[in-house]
Amino acid sequence: MVGDGFPVQTFFPQLGLDAEISPFLLLDYAGPKEFSPSREPRGVSEHPHRGFETVTVVYQGEFEHRDSAGHSGSLGPGDVQWMTAASGLVHEEKHARAFSERGGTIEVVQLWVNLPRAHKMSPPRYQDIRDADIPSVALPGDAGSLRVIAGEFDGHEGPARTFSPVHLYDVRLNAGGRVEIRVEPDHQAGLLVLRGRVTVGEQDVRDRELALLAQDGDGVTLAASEPSTVLVMSGEPIREPVARYGPFVMNTREEIVQAVEDYRSGRMGRLH
Ligand code: MN
Repeated sequence: MVGDGFPVQTFFPQLGLDAEISPFLLLDYAGPKEFSPSREPRGVSEHPHRGFETVTVVYQGEFEHRDSAGHSGSLGPGDVQWMTAASGLVHEEKHARAFSERGGTIEVVQLWVNLPRAHKMSPPRYQDIRDADIPSVALPGDAGSLRVIAGEFDGHEGPARTFSPVHLYDVRLNAGGRVEIRVEPDHQAGLLVLRGRVTVGEQDVRDRELALLAQDGDGVTLAASEPSTVLVMSGEPIREPVARYGPFVMNTREEIVQAVEDYRSGRMGRLH
């Protein structure tokens, strides 16, 4: 449980996997889980981030966030928050108040995307991307649909702006549906099956399983034997040293020490 509101399964980082999944740093999948009504919104209280981006993809539930610089906002089903922590901020992530009071099901993914060294100390930035702003591509043969959150698919561009090349797709396949996912040469790619069952190349991938693609082709075909929801990510690896400590991901140990010091002394701000 992250805080008291996010029952997560962490798919990475895992020992030895880091280099294979750059530019991605962490993948958490929370829910689906039913929460009873609560007067106080559950979630994660005040905590910092520096040196990367957090991408929150909401499938079910309503969430609210606010940070030390006075930014706040809400997210509902289909929405995506692409938060560039960069030089650092302190924020909280909670179930929305009205949602908490009536109770309900949450289902949400959080993906951390690394920043190139040149942008780790840039000012923080938010992209609150609404469901309606994400192009949904109908797949031929009634195979399903694919929402382009970031990058490009079949000529359709996603709304998220990124600091290095990243493609992120929310794919819904009908039983018997197939889609060919192209992956750029040298990009790392992986996919999380949230529900359903999908054949990836020749491998069977079930619900709550992550598949990493080998870097030796130009893509892969997904074939669903059941109605399936799949989050597909690919990106150009950031070939720079990674020093990480909890919510800080920098290039050197010295920069981590500095981050801890900056947080403790309040230089990343405080929540009021
Ligand atoms: Mn956070």
